[in-house]
Amino acid sequence: MMKEMILATGNEHKAREFREMLPGVRILTLKDLSTPISIVEDGTTFEENALIKARAVHEATGMAALADDSGIEVDALGGKPGVHSARWMGEDTPYDIKNAKLMELTRGKDRTARYVCAIAFVDEEGKEYVCRGTVEGEIARAPEGTGGFGYDPVFFYPPFGTTLANVTEEQKHEVSHRGNALKQFLRDMGDRL
Ligand code: IMP
Repeated sequence: MMKEMILATGNEHKAREFREMLPGVRILTLKDLSTPISIVEDGTTFEENALIKARAVHEATGMAALADDSGIEVDALGGKPGVHSARWMGEDTPYDIKNAKLMELTRGKDRTARYVCAIAFVDEEGKEYVCRGTVEGEIARAPEGTGGFGYDPVFFYPPFGTTLANVTEEQKHEVSHRGNALKQFLRDMGDRL
C-alpha cells in the first residue's frame, strides 16, 4: 500500500511542490479532513513552528504528519522578518508594498538575505524529525519578474543574476530553501517512507 501522510497546510501550491518531490507518497492536506484543526504557531524558530504544526496534525489524526515553516531573514534587519514573514507589516498588506519597504530598509546597507525552510515530520508512532534548508541571496535594488510569490520579486539570487520571481518554477525549486529542505528530508528519511 502506498504510504500516506497529511501535510499541515491548506495551501495547494505547497502541496503540489511536496507531491512532486515525494512521488511515492500519497499526500493529503488539511482540506481533506472533515474536522478543522486549529494550530497556534507561537514558536520562535522555523523548526519549532514546523514541529508545532506536524505534532498538532499527528495528534488530531493519528496519521504520519508533515509540516513546513518558512520565511525570509534580512541581515541588515537583524534577521527580520524571520518567523514573522507572513505577518510582517500585516498579513493583508500587498507584497509590492512589503517588497518596496525591504528595498528601502536595505538601501545603502548590507543587502544579504536568505530564505529558510524547516520541515518537520511526525510518524504514526509519534517519532519526530526536523531539518532545515536555506538559499542565500540579496534584496534586489529593483523588483524583477512576476513568477513565484511573496518576496520573490526582490529576492535576488546571484548565481541566476536575477530574482527568484524571474525564473521558472523548476529553476526555483532546484535551488530554493524548500527544495533544499525536502532534499535533506529525503536523504534522511527516504527509506522509511
Ligand atoms: P509559511 O511557511 O506558509 O508560514 O510562509 C511564510 C512566509 O514566508 C510566506 O507567507 C512568505 O511571506 C515568505 N516566504 C516563504 N517562502 C517563500 C518563497 O519561496 N518565496 C517568497 N516568499 C516566501
